[in-house]
Amino acid sequence: MKENITRKLDELGRIVIPSDFRKKLDVKTGDRLRVELVDNTLILQKSIPTCVLCGKAEDLNYESHNKYICEDCLETILMNAKK
Ligand SMILES: [Zn+2]
Repeated sequence: MKENITRKLDELGRIVIPSDFRKKLDVKTGDRLRVELVDNTLILQKSIPTCVLCGKAEDLNYESHNKYICEDCLETILMNAKK
């Protein structure tokens, strides 16, 4: 489903995302959004946490400073640390 609205960009380059769009995306104040430029189109997506080492979004095990490590990568790190 396509919905659009025109908003004015402020002097710092910010726009307000309409509240019903935020509700539909389930994003709240402080949530991270991914900003992507594809050709001449700006895409905003709810940011999904991924492993900082392999990029996987599943089985995230460890979080620190809003960065995640998945179970597989954590296991690899711990195995190498024991050597
Ligand atoms: Zn990983």
